[in-house]
Order: sequence, then structure tokens, then C-alpha cells
Amino acid sequence: MTDTPTQLFIGGAWADAADGATMPVDDPATGEILCHVADAGPKDAKLAEEAAVQAQQEWGRTAPRVRSEILRRAYEIVIGRTEELAHLMTSEMGKPLAEARGEVAYAGEFFRWFSEEAVRVDGGYGTLPDGRNRMLLSRRPVGPCLLITPWNFPLAMGARKIGPAVAAGCTMVLKPAPQTPLSSLALAAILKEAGLPDGVLNVVTTSRAGEVCEPLLRAGRIRKLSFTGSTAVGRLLLAQSADAVVRTSMELGGNAPFVVFEDADLDKAVDGAMVAKMRNMGEACTAANRFFVHRSVAREFGRRLAERMGALVVGPGTRDGVDVGPLIDRTGRAKVEALVADAVERGARVLVGGRTPAGPGCFYPPTVLADVSPESRLMGTEIFGPVAAILTFDDEDEVVRRANDTPWGLVGYVFTEGLDRALRVSERLEVGMVGLNTGLVSNPAAPFGGVKQSGLGREGGRVGIDEFLEHQYLAIPVS
Ligand code: NAP
Repeated sequence: MTDTPTQLFIGGAWADAADGATMPVDDPATGEILCHVADAGPKDAKLAEEAAVQAQQEWGRTAPRVRSEILRRAYEIVIGRTEELAHLMTSEMGKPLAEARGEVAYAGEFFRWFSEEAVRVDGGYGTLPDGRNRMLLSRRPVGPCLLITPWNFPLAMGARKIGPAVAAGCTMVLKPAPQTPLSSLALAAILKEAGLPDGVLNVVTTSRAGEVCEPLLRAGRIRKLSFTGSTAVGRLLLAQSADAVVRTSMELGGNAPFVVFEDADLDKAVDGAMVAKMRNMGEACTAANRFFVHRSVAREFGRRLAERMGALVVGPGTRDGVDVGPLIDRTGRAKVEALVADAVERGARVLVGGRTPAGPGCFYPPTVLADVSPESRLMGTEIFGPVAAILTFDDEDEVVRRANDTPWGLVGYVFTEGLDRALRVSERLEVGMVGLNTGLVSNPAAPFGGVKQSGLGREGGRVGIDEFLEHQYLAIPVS
């Protein structure tokens, strides 16, 4: 902790907020303050914007190989510091160390993947159909970007945006979530060490997100917003981006259906459910939110899932053997408690968990609810906690209709041993990603993102860099 930066990172230098403000960073396992970091205001944000704008021209002209090698070095440093970064993330966010190590690998991989993509940006040349003009097509960086990230994957959400922005030749202002600023500041230090020029990445930690970001979006010098967070905030930022017609990528909330058919392999389904529900204590946009289980296997599925969930060890993420850390804060936990209470009031049976433990920290036990009423509030809200809500269904058309009956469409999970059904149902689900007999879809080499109100655009995969590039077409007469 002692070496982790706690100041703003602007123009390649560490600085206090202009008004000297700081904000506390809490350990969700104890409720104690870990440290204070600089709390940027609008003045600091303007300085960060200016640094990004000034650096853009030259950075956009650097050789792709140079950008690629900076990312490659950043990847090596991230992986080499796995233990340090994992401890930092666990201390500010709460996830168990084993999961934090996994996130370090996931985050690092975005740098490696985009170091490989940086040198593969293509263009085009050809004669247009009328034969009178040639077309020369090139791809150029979109310009200075504002990156806004949530607290649930403090390292990976930053890396998933910084990687393609660096590869494409864009400069950036990153605003991380106030609960987890330390991982982003550590990333900035690593990128500087890897050779990223001053001003290319700027980090403003702040408790005043609206005051800091809105002026940047409206001024029009920032040309791109890449946001990960809730749909409600995404909608607001889309409206703010409209003034200056800022290009946007939106990775928003989910409400993932997890469908178990009568011909599913129940061992695979329960394994998949444990990952899709319990990764990150359920605090993931990809978390299975609604378990639809065929009536003929629902009892057995519920029994096995409750047994596995009940065996998980809850405690501080830094302690050996802990599977489930605390939730991010008391507000997050209160939301989970209220959703469970509402479901129980409407007739759900608690198979395991469901009671908040006494004592410090924001802990909530792994919980399985059976016979959940479709009217329950958790059907239309991201639970964002370790609660599996099971409903039953009778036939395929019905479950597809119910799974799609939501404004969100990030990911769905389908468990069946029938190939026809697997493909048919996957194609009918209104989602950007499907886990077929698996509970994990995230991979830096695959395009991550949703449809409907889960977002716009994709992160990762071959298309991830496109979000940070514009096409330019030159018309050249054929003489
Ligand atoms: P959030 O409340 O929407 O916040 C996300 C980020 O936006 C934070 O940095 C937040 O800072 C900032 N923010 C809030 N209001 C803002 C404003 N007016 N102007 C500028 N920035 C603003 O979401 P969260 O609670 O941190 O994260 C959980 C949500 O993220 C869930 O809905 C989850 O599904 C979604 N998520 C989606 C993905 C994906 O890839 N689709 C991945 C991870 C998480 P403040 O906290 O200071 O307001």
C-alpha cells in the first residue's frame, strides 16, 4: 500500500487536487479507512482534458509498433506484479485474493491482446463502381477519450478501455469509481513505467463525478466516451454526449437469464451456476440474475446448488480459504437484503442463506431462493449480490419469451445436451453473449457487450479497437 499513488495523474505528473480536497478509500471487509486519495474538481478535470488534447496529435502519429510495445511491456509488468495488484484490489474492493489474481491476469491480457491488434489496423484501396474515382481508406484515432469505470472489476475495466485506446493512438482521461481508485492509479504508474508518453493517459479520482465529467462531454474537445456502469447513468451520459455529438461506447447493466432444460447435464449446470452467480460475489454485470429451471429438474437443481452455495466460506478476501468476500458497501448490501425480503414476502423459499451476519464489514451469505414469484422485484433489478433466484418453466417457447422479457440483453446462459436446442435457443435470446453449457463468457479475445439497454458497442476481440478508430476516405480521380 505504501507505494501506491494517491494523487491525480495529469500530464505524466502526480498532483494534488487544485483545491487540496481528498476522499477516503474504505476496506469493505472492515469498514476502516485504508487511505485518502486526491478528490478532483472541475479545474483538475480541465487540466486533464488539456493534457489529453495537447498530447493527441503527436501520439496519434506514433508508429503502431511503438504503441504495441508499450502495451506489451505493460502486460509484462502487470503479470510480474500479480501479488501486489491482487492485494491492492482485494483491500479496496473486497473480492477474495484468488479472484483478484484472476482479474490481474484478465486485465493484463487486454494489454497483450491489444499490443497484438495495434499493428493490425488495416485500410483499403480500390476503384469505385463508376470507374471515375479511386478510394483510399485509412483508419485514424478518434481523438481524446473520456473513460469512466465502475468499482466491480477495478483493474480489468480500466485495462479493457486503455488497451484499445493506446493501440488506436487515442489519448485519455480516466475517471475510476470512487470506491476503487487505487487500482487505476496503480495502472497509470505501470503504463508510465512501460513508456507511455506524458499526457496520453490522465487519471482523475473524484467523488464529484457529475461536476467533473459533464463539462468535458459538453465542451466537445473530448471526442469519445467509453463508459462501463449502470444503465441509468449510461442514459444520462448519452444525453450529455449529444450536445457535442461525442461518440460513445456503453457497457451497461444486465439481467442475465440462466436456463436449465430437462435434458441438461445437472453437474455441468450446477458448476456453471456457481461461476455465473458467484464470480465476484455476484457483483458482475454478467451475473446470472434469473434462474429458469425446467419443472422436472428444478427440485434437484435447487438442492445441489444450495449444497454448493452453503459450503462456501465467507470472510475477508485476504484470508486463506475464503470464497466469498464482502459486498462493496452498506448501500449495496441493503439493496440485496431488500430484494430477498421482497421475494420471500411473495412466497419464495430460502434453501440456504438469506440472513445478514452481525459484525463489521459488508458481508452477505450465499443464498438460494426457490419458487420465486415472477412478480418479485429481483426479476427486474440487478441483484448484484450472492443470491440465486430459481423459477420454473414448462416449455421452450415459454422460457425464451420470459428470458427476453426485460429491457436488458447483455448475456444469457443455456444448459442442454441437445445441439439443435442449444443453437436454436441461443439464437432466439436477445443478448450480446451466450454461455452454452458454461457459466463464464468473458475473454479479452472475444467481443464483450450487450444489446437493448445493456449497451452500445463491444470491448475486446477483433472489433474492440474499432470503437477507438474513425474511417477516413480519400477520393482520387482516375486520370
Ligand atoms: P454506476 O453507478 O453507473 O457508476 C459507474 C461509474 O460512473 C462510476 O465511476 C461512477 O462514479 C460514474 N458516474 C456516476 N454518475 C456519473 C455522472 N453523472 N457523470 C459521470 N460519471 C458518473 O455503476 P456502479 O454501481 O459503479 O457499477 C455497477 C454497474 O455497472 C452495474 O449496473 C453493472 O451491471 C455495470 N457493469 C457493466 C459492465 C459491462 O461490461 N456491461 C461491466 C461491469 C459493470 P460515482 O460512483 O462517483 O457516481
